[in-house]
Amino acid sequence: MNWPRIREIILKKDNYTCQKCSFHEEKGKELEIHHIIPKIYGGKDQLENIITLCSICHHFAPDHNEEFKKYINEKINGKILNSFRESKKSISQKTTFGMERKSKEGGAITKAPLGYKIINKLLVPDPEKEQQISQLFTEFCTENTSLNRLAKKYGLTTNGLKKILINKTYIGIITFAGKTNKGLHQPIISEELFQQVQEKINSLSKNKIYLE
Ligand SMILES: [Zn+2]
Repeated sequence: MNWPRIREIILKKDNYTCQKCSFHEEKGKELEIHHIIPKIYGGKDQLENIITLCSICHHFAPDHNEEFKKYINEKINGKILNSFRESKKSISQKTTFGMERKSKEGGAITKAPLGYKIINKLLVPDPEKEQQISQLFTEFCTENTSLNRLAKKYGLTTNGLKKILINKTYIGIITFAGKTNKGLHQPIISEELFQQVQEKINSLSKNKIYLE
């Protein structure tokens, strides 16, 4: 069955009403459909797995099944969202909104950072390079070395190395349009190590010795 047809069936099933805030709209332009179990986790295009949400409630919907159940059971009054609905009517705002949602689902990722591969639009650790990344973080953190020296050792530019060391993707976070979300991918670096590396980078920059 094609997508517009599935959408039409789901909207009808839910009486053109957002299942969280009860926002109702016959034409359904502001309504979206959401997979309760995302397709990348094996969720199907079946009636019981798809639900109608307005674009705002959809935006904030958690990706994980159990959290989503909690989310959908906490009903809110759609009227409190009305001013927000008005303000995001311009096309550009709407586009950013949709893309953000995509990034949350992992759909907007087109380039994998070093240490990951993209398989079925999902970031997956690259077994060959994952080790190198964790070695990089550990070495920078524990050894008395500069960004410059470490970059040379790994055949990277200093700037390239710095970008890796501050990339939150490695702790499982996706950044898009300045906002961060928990990604669906597996972290390579522990938050503790990442934090230590950030502190070291900051203190080196402060003392202006990272370009030595
Ligand atoms: Zn809603």
